[in-house]
Amino acid sequence: MDRGRKGKEKEKRKWIKNKEIFNKVNIMRACLRCKYLTSEEKCPLCGSETSENWRGLLIILDPTNSEIAKKIRADVKGKYALTVKW
Ligand SMILES: [Zn+2]
Repeated sequence: MDRGRKGKEKEKRKWIKNKEIFNKVNIMRACLRCKYLTSEEKCPLCGSETSENWRGLLIILDPTNSEIAKKIRADVKGKYALTVKW
């Protein structure tokens, strides 16, 4: 009986953690030039302005071997937005 309750508690904690991650992603900003996702006002890669108005999340793990990375001209691994607007 006790076990079931603990399981629910665990689920709840997991959910809260997911929400935290979601919020973190939500406050991310995307660079207007290279689309790199950052929490900074300026892009750490190219120094351009960043915007909160972005859509789509792209994670580049291996920029040298990724076709998508070439397409969006990403040469640093990390998270990128698909579209960025002011
Ligand atoms: Zn940039």
